[in-house]
Amino acid sequence: MQILGIRDGVVVEVDYTLRDDAGKVLDASEPGDPLAYLQGAENIVPGLERALSGKVIGDAFTVRVEPTDGYGERIAVEAKKIPRKAFPARMKLATEMQFEIEDEEGETIAVYITAIHADHVLCDPNHPLAGVYLNFEVKVLSIREATAEEVEHGHPHGPHGHHHH
Ligand code: ZN
Repeated sequence: MQILGIRDGVVVEVDYTLRDDAGKVLDASEPGDPLAYLQGAENIVPGLERALSGKVIGDAFTVRVEPTDGYGERIAVEAKKIPRKAFPARMKLATEMQFEIEDEEGETIAVYITAIHADHVLCDPNHPLAGVYLNFEVKVLSIREATAEEVEHGHPHGPHGHHHH
């Protein structure tokens, strides 16, 4: 019997729960709807991807990921104020929504909405989970070789993967 451990180029399905250090659940896969990702393609945070390397089907473990291996350290910056009318009128805005803007130097940067007001929106370049220690509880459900197309796209296809085609 061949035991296939997780390495770059395999598609993995996991059940997971993500908690902060206080034990608050930040995110979790739904029962019967696991997360599928392509190992080595940066689909998931580096610290979790590293912890999954070499694991086999049925392995269950917890890992605490530091911010530098998660969503980054929180950087001290002033919130950016963007007029509401800069967004399409029909666009439904929500906090934690990510979009790209041009900064003062003309560089494209990702920002996240932190507050929505009648005439303006506040945005912050920090990911909502920047600076947070990530406590993952993970169970490996399946491992298979990725197809050439999945490797080319950098993400898995199929029932729990991308649905773009
Ligand atoms: Zn694709």
